[in-house]
Amino acid sequence: MQNQKRVFSGARPTGRQHIGNYLGAIKNYVALQESYQCLYCIVDVHALTTLEETKSLQDNIREMVLDWLAAGLDPEKSIIFVQSHVPQVMELHTYLSMVTPLGWLLRVPTFKEKARMQPQNVNYGLVGYPVLMTADIILYKADIVPVGEDQLPHLELAREIVRRFNGIFGDIFPEPEARLTETPLVVGLNGVQKMGKSYGNQVELAHTPEETRQRIMNAVTDPARIHKTDPGHPEVCSVFRLHGLFARAEETARLEEDCRKGAIGCVQCKRHLAEEVNTALTPLRQRRAELAAKPEIVKNVLGDGARRAGLIAARTMKEVREKMNLA
Ligand code: SF4
Repeated sequence: MQNQKRVFSGARPTGRQHIGNYLGAIKNYVALQESYQCLYCIVDVHALTTLEETKSLQDNIREMVLDWLAAGLDPEKSIIFVQSHVPQVMELHTYLSMVTPLGWLLRVPTFKEKARMQPQNVNYGLVGYPVLMTADIILYKADIVPVGEDQLPHLELAREIVRRFNGIFGDIFPEPEARLTETPLVVGLNGVQKMGKSYGNQVELAHTPEETRQRIMNAVTDPARIHKTDPGHPEVCSVFRLHGLFARAEETARLEEDCRKGAIGCVQCKRHLAEEVNTALTPLRQRRAELAAKPEIVKNVLGDGARRAGLIAARTMKEVREKMNLA
């Protein structure tokens, strides 16, 4: 039974999702839709702040939706939509930008970081990113935003913008609350960075079992292990971390002991992990293949999502324009 509280979460259109996305966000999305009215938004406009070109945008959106649906997001329960399909968000962004001091935005650490990473393209959108993010959330009067600890400052800024806007124009928006989510940090198969497509260290949900096996067999393990009888250090091994996320606790404990004693070789250990991952993902992959065979499904889900989100947005914007004396 759904209560009245509304959850909003946005994700950039990164294309086919990997097991880091699945364990870190999508599983949580699926759980939340049982208790709240959830809006899950693919934030294509945000992606433009860092994209050099947009050729792959539509494919990325489609692949992402396929993964979400295959993982259990239910379009009957959740509103799944694309940010730009509800254009009122751009209007609200403009109004919010009039009450947001520039100093607040220039201090945001992610702005400084992005500006460092793409000095050739420090665009206006990068500075205004938190304002658009606030518009995304409050256009739907969301009460709860699931976030990782690293995103807490963004949400605090969104709350400050809401307080300022409400202070000037009257109580329109609820202050969105952060719902801290326990997101396991999934380290990629190179054992260095967080799992991510840009690092090429990922296992995608849509990989075939054979692709999955090959990727895991190439994963970086404990560099101190030369021979299979050398005592290992599972705490530095990307394969062991993934075992911890897919295998039963007692199996992981046994593996840890065997690794430390040099009683198991890395090849055997990786084969075992590949089996675990493939077994866990088989039902999801079957559903995904069925969904991908019906091209109209993604179109229909996003069309219906935009319509439902648009109804909420239209109500909000009517109220906003009235309070701002624009109507
Ligand atoms: Fe990693 Fe397994 Fe090799 Fe130990 S045995 S270093 S856990 S791959």
